[in-house]
Amino acid sequence: MKVLGIDVGGSGIKGAIVDLKTGRLLTDRIRYVTPPGGRPRPMALKVGMIAKKLEWKGRIGVGFPSVIKNNVALSASNIAKSWIGTDVGKLISEVTGSKNVTVLNDADAAAIAEYEYGQQKMEKGLVIFITIGTGLGTAFINNGELVPNLELGHLYLKKRGDAEWYASNAARKRNNHSWSVWAKRFNHVLGEMEALFQPDQFILGGGISKRPELFAHHLTVDTPIRMASLKNEAGIIGAALAARGLKKR
Ligand code: BGC
Repeated sequence: MKVLGIDVGGSGIKGAIVDLKTGRLLTDRIRYVTPPGGRPRPMALKVGMIAKKLEWKGRIGVGFPSVIKNNVALSASNIAKSWIGTDVGKLISEVTGSKNVTVLNDADAAAIAEYEYGQQKMEKGLVIFITIGTGLGTAFINNGELVPNLELGHLYLKKRGDAEWYASNAARKRNNHSWSVWAKRFNHVLGEMEALFQPDQFILGGGISKRPELFAHHLTVDTPIRMASLKNEAGIIGAALAARGLKKR
């Protein structure tokens, strides 16, 4: 089965056609910069452009950077607040002509992609999957089941505030932090999550998981930490996968 996977982010909007049998991209990955202001219509039009370029009107899966219930966005942190209450699926249907659009949280998408096609074992126990990018996206996979819409990126840290504001990759850039300063902050966030949930492992995804040598030695929590094996494309692949659903094991 082939599905157009779309990964909507605060910085870029990416898409490609995915073969769900292999989890591989069948086309080049197309990327547009997220329009400034991050408002619904201009962003959706970029998704329309991707579908048009790939001549696609079939099934579409969309990973979206907010809480998603029944295809509707219920939060917005790195995109315009006017997304809240928007039926993302309906809007994407309008701009692409596809009648079959499934939307889920972007971190949930990356986590299920790793689960289904990646190298990391995630079937047993509680896995907290964290995508480190413009935002800090988190997903729970508990004994092989995704618990959707976990927003631990917005965990409120005593004296430090919002975890994402404190320790996302965007925070590192904004503060001009060295890798070690950023990693210590991120380690603090992991420590809070560990104390609250006692996970069996953390899996880190997002662009910087490609370069663990820059920061991993500063992470000192007890829970084992692994890097996601699927890198840039995890969001696209997981979004496509969501249009079909995970196989029961
Ligand atoms: C949002 C999450 C999203 C994450 C990564 C956060 O700001 O609240 O829903 O998964 O960014 O994009």
